[in-house]
Amino acid sequence: MKRRRAAKPVTKPLGRVASHFNRDGLPKNSYRTQSEAQSAAQLAWTLSGVDLDSYRCDYCFQWHIGKRFRDD
Ligand SMILES: [Zn+2]
Repeated sequence: MKRRRAAKPVTKPLGRVASHFNRDGLPKNSYRTQSEAQSAAQLAWTLSGVDLDSYRCDYCFQWHIGKRFRDD
């Protein structure tokens, strides 16, 4: 008897789209330019020593900052 995998719903943010959202499922702050995002990342580093990356989002086509992608 063959098993069929149920089709997964595609409504949840997955993969690269998930980078638009924070861990609480809320949209992250977005920046219109890379330099704005980098300024924010630098401010976060200055204030709290957090190492953040700026990246362009494939979901909203603006810029976000976030921790470098790691497993923790
Ligand atoms: Zn986004």
